[in-house]
Amino acid sequence: MRAVLLGPPGAGKGTQAVKLVEKYGVPQISTGDIFRKNIKEGTELGKKAQEYMNAGELVPDELVVDLVKDRLMQEDCANGYLLDGFPRTIYQAEELDKFLAEQGQKLDAVINFEVGHDELITRLTGRRICKKCGASYHIVNIPPKKEGVCDKCGGELEQRKDDTVETAENRISVYRESTAPLIGYYEKTGALKNFNAERDHEIVFNEIVAEIGE
Ligand code: AMP
Repeated sequence: MRAVLLGPPGAGKGTQAVKLVEKYGVPQISTGDIFRKNIKEGTELGKKAQEYMNAGELVPDELVVDLVKDRLMQEDCANGYLLDGFPRTIYQAEELDKFLAEQGQKLDAVINFEVGHDELITRLTGRRICKKCGASYHIVNIPPKKEGVCDKCGGELEQRKDDTVETAENRISVYRESTAPLIGYYEKTGALKNFNAERDHEIVFNEIVAEIGE
């Protein structure tokens, strides 16, 4: 299965990705995770991406597209993948389409998560991530058993630099301006499936599976 997870920051793409990976056995390709790993490791790419990310702006297309193409050529993507956070601009979507056409492939689904503005801010600013394993929590909605400590690996939980109120607001505006046009783009191709993602994540997950098949 080749699918794109589309939706504003805080819509629950990462949470659903973890469950969908388990269900369908295809890798999650998160461009945000790839950038964060590069920042942690101090690579050239990380240095270039960092400033944009901290400001809640998009990393320039030219730093993203080749990176994703290279990743999709790797062996573990042979039977499909879940793109999480890519494409984020019409240009990126067109480049992805060209790449797929060259491989004689197409997207099976674009899973679009719909969540209102205030709920997004609540989710983003309350989000905490494990420094060690990357597991995601929310101080109110999905609290860890022990405050500040990951249930899964005992790692320390931290807030992402771009999850402050100000940066979260900017990320949402950037989404509305640059990424939301992809909804129309994929509507035309017939791949778009819309989900009300304000509801419990289990309900949303079951609906996605019902829609895209076992
Ligand atoms: P995410 O983890 O998906 O919320 O992404 C975090 C940040 O990484 C975004 O706010 C952007 O700065 C950057 N980023 C991730 N994916 C992309 C992309 N496809 N195009 C441009 N910037 C991206």
